[in-house]
Amino acid sequence: MEQQVDGINEERLTQEFIRLAEIASPSFRERGIADYLKHRLAGFGLEVTEDDTGDRIGGDTGNIYTCLPGDKNSPALFLCAHMDTVNMADGVKVVFKDGVFRSEGSTILGGDDKAAIAAIIEVLEVLRRQPAQHGDLEIIFTVGEEQGLLGSKHFDCSRLKSEFGYVLDSDGDPGTMITAAPAQNQLDVIIRGRAAHAGIEPERGINAIQVAGQALARLPLGRIDAETTSNIGVIQGGKATNIIPDSCFIQGEVRSLDRAKMDSLTSKIGSEFTRAAEAAGAGSEVRVTFKYPEFHLDRDLPVFRIAAGAAGKLGLKVSYETSGGGSDANNINAAGRTAANLGIGMKQVHTTEEFLRLSDLVADARWLWEIITSL
Ligand SMILES: [Zn+2]
Repeated sequence: MEQQVDGINEERLTQEFIRLAEIASPSFRERGIADYLKHRLAGFGLEVTEDDTGDRIGGDTGNIYTCLPGDKNSPALFLCAHMDTVNMADGVKVVFKDGVFRSEGSTILGGDDKAAIAAIIEVLEVLRRQPAQHGDLEIIFTVGEEQGLLGSKHFDCSRLKSEFGYVLDSDGDPGTMITAAPAQNQLDVIIRGRAAHAGIEPERGINAIQVAGQALARLPLGRIDAETTSNIGVIQGGKATNIIPDSCFIQGEVRSLDRAKMDSLTSKIGSEFTRAAEAAGAGSEVRVTFKYPEFHLDRDLPVFRIAAGAAGKLGLKVSYETSGGGSDANNINAAGRTAANLGIGMKQVHTTEEFLRLSDLVADARWLWEIITSL
């Protein structure tokens, strides 16, 4: 193995990642991984706090925060990763073969976002063994990210000493930096028709599923323009073939880098349902929930210059991208701290085909190390 001056240890990092990935932590059930991480951080002599976000969002765990004190003359920096995963997370068994981590096939791997957590822990391990000059290093492990960035939404950013930092949660390769990400609205729609026996007196019924279908057929969905997307992802309704369904529930989302575009598309979609319901003599309820705000950052900001310099030093390909997805960076930027989301090499996330290359995991840790020690 090539001698690495930064002390990042591949074997230790591999073991840490596997340990983290095999602790089930779907959103709202992050207790196991949070307890493990609190114990791990306390082992570095760090004081760890957990906030009350779990109670606020109906989960069993809050956001975890700690700070590794550093040199007061160097700028403070935060690192943020999320502890929760999507579902299909129970009983993860990591298979490590030919330098690639995968699940055994029936679950996700959870590299989203445990690759980031493992890299952060590895950097703390190295700092303990070979102290280097750095500023205060704040670490935030959030909950509920996969449910609309709930953890970071409730995290009190005013307690941060750092003016800027990094969220490690993009599927780009190490070296990738996200400079903009969209806002999101969620739409919940209920169509209320009228139930009737489908064979005996169908004339009395109003088919809520059919009304929903008429609206759905007219909706602008998919990629609307370069900065706007929309989707209907859930539809539920009906009880049996012999009953005309009296209600249909539809759930969807609209995202855009442009808030005005997002809002106008959201209301257009909502009004298609209202219009279809009125035409059929049905009722409708449209509820819009603003999930999180967009961000646009200038690539000349120090947060990017520092990460680009560190990536260049390691020979990583530096690229600046606009994301189609939200991350904790959306909420942290909205709270007035500058957060760049970094690519960490996780692939095909949220599927049972998810994988992560050890070489990318090592690059993540080395990139962090360079960022932290270059300040
Ligand atoms: Zn993620």
